[in-house]
Amino acid sequence: MAVNIILPPSSLSLWHTKKLIYSTQIRFRIMSSASKSQPQSVASSAVYQVPGLDSHEMDSTADKTFERYSSNTAKRNGKGVSIVWFRNDLRVLDNEALFKAWVSSQAVLPVYCIDPRLFQTTYYFGFPKTGALRAQFIIECLADLKKNLMKKGLNLLIQHGKPEDILPSLAKAFGAHTVYAHKETCSEELQVERSVARGLRQVELSRAQGNSSRSSSTHSPKLQLIWGSTLYHLDDLPFSVGSLPDVYTQFRKSVEAKCTIRGCIRLPTSLGPPPSVDDWGIIPSVEQLGLHSEKVVKGMRFLGGETAALSRVTEYFWNKDLLKIYKETRNGMLGPDYSTKFSPWLASGSLSPRFIYEEVKRYEKERLANDSTYWVLFELIWRDYFRFISIKYGNSFFHLGGPRKVEKRWHQDQKLFETWRNGCTGYPLIDANMKELSASGFMSNRGRQIVCSFLVRDMGIDWRMGAEWFETCLLDYDPCSNYGNWTYGAGVGNDPREDRYFSIPKQAQTYDPDGEHVAFWVPELLTLPKERRNFPGKSYIEQVVPLKFGSSNKHHSQRSKYGGRHSGLRNR
Ligand code: FAD
Repeated sequence: MAVNIILPPSSLSLWHTKKLIYSTQIRFRIMSSASKSQPQSVASSAVYQVPGLDSHEMDSTADKTFERYSSNTAKRNGKGVSIVWFRNDLRVLDNEALFKAWVSSQAVLPVYCIDPRLFQTTYYFGFPKTGALRAQFIIECLADLKKNLMKKGLNLLIQHGKPEDILPSLAKAFGAHTVYAHKETCSEELQVERSVARGLRQVELSRAQGNSSRSSSTHSPKLQLIWGSTLYHLDDLPFSVGSLPDVYTQFRKSVEAKCTIRGCIRLPTSLGPPPSVDDWGIIPSVEQLGLHSEKVVKGMRFLGGETAALSRVTEYFWNKDLLKIYKETRNGMLGPDYSTKFSPWLASGSLSPRFIYEEVKRYEKERLANDSTYWVLFELIWRDYFRFISIKYGNSFFHLGGPRKVEKRWHQDQKLFETWRNGCTGYPLIDANMKELSASGFMSNRGRQIVCSFLVRDMGIDWRMGAEWFETCLLDYDPCSNYGNWTYGAGVGNDPREDRYFSIPKQAQTYDPDGEHVAFWVPELLTLPKERRNFPGKSYIEQVVPLKFGSSNKHHSQRSKYGGRHSGLRNR
């Protein structure tokens, strides 16, 4: 059994700032050790549920939050039926599509379409488009959404098929006047939006159906798309998307100075009743989606759904009081507490960034405001930025040359790529991070930057192979953040100043000095002295390529199977 030893915040605050980076890692190790006599085997098999609350605590946290965010002042003035098409917005709190559907109708039909295209393969390299762990996470999000909608007097209709086939026939069958949904920005999602709109235009509703006030005898249901995935609203930006700054800092400073963040949408306590439905459908299992179920037996096990998302905010901000040290701990790599871990819920839309903003402001008022409390917002603005940039640059985000159409030679050596993907490169820092990704669907931001740099700079491999593998595995996969960060890391992104090389020895010494992370994921390294775990030399597998800038550490082995390349990149 894991023993949960949490250092009191007061003792943490006494530590030297640099030490704080590792404080959550140390805590993770303590929690992973069952007995002092045999810490190694237990440490290498610890599973962490995120959030760490029990189901009763989570339900009560979500109920209290929903209550705080309920308002019965809004007037319902519509007629007939409206549909809410849930996509990557699997939440009730701050869901404007749901709110608008309620206001404009007498009955709301919430629908989720299990689109078979999401379970096919990635665009260029044919990896599974959705890995089993993310599929499981989404299934949990759906189950939780259904539960929370039922608490509000509604339900969730689960349909298998393409939205463009399902929604028009539902609109016809229920005489729905409008389908409300959240707007997406990338090509695959936009294509679906266009197809749904086209399908709806072909539906003819009689005047008696829907709430049309037009005089013609028939009319078609409309698709109304709503912006709701970012902190700053698209319509509030101080520039058109076409003239969005290409440098993040310019973007951030401008929105911070000139925009305000809209308040969360408050829903009435009851949204019912729904229209009469014979069969609400069944949430599928991972196997029913054509995937082999995978269990997390090591590392973090994220629980899908809005209830878990709201509980993670409460746990991280309020129960563990970690928000005030976020800026010092955020570059950690091991355990649930070095960073917020909000990303899987943000990507599925189970968590609204505006809710996080309001919680940060409440924390600043009730506890304290410092660089750390601000820094969570700073990072969320990065997320906004990539989403807006994806509108500006469209499909070039997914092309080899990226938004700047950089011409560069890449190769697609399958064997080399597989050593990276499977975590067998001979570099413990790379291997540990890649094993973590496969086993849990998560990797720290620090880890992602390091493995990206290694793949594209040291291996010289086509960055899209890495991006597509991330697309398969990540619980928090979102096309804007994923391809935005990969184009950045590959030096083909929209910011011409970015050309970053991450030196593995340097990164290991700074962010995993005791080899805690590598030993957790590559347990054979546990037997080595701490300072050698990242530099195991001959006691570990052979390195598949040399580093571009060689070694900066005396322990570091120069053995390699392949030849090296050199360039004048900025070395981190
Ligand atoms: P925290 O450090 O707690 O940050 C809070 C939130 O800020 C995050 O949840 C996230 O929403 C946002 N954020 C932080 N850093 C970034 C960033 N660099 N870009 C965009 N948003 C950011 N993030 C995704 O959500 N989906 C992806 O598919 C994704 N792919 C990535 C690929 C690469 C190569 C790299 C380098 C980064 C990628 N990121 C992606 C960004 C970042 O690594 C994750 O958002 C972060 O690690 C999630 O952990 P957290 O929630 O604890 O983050």
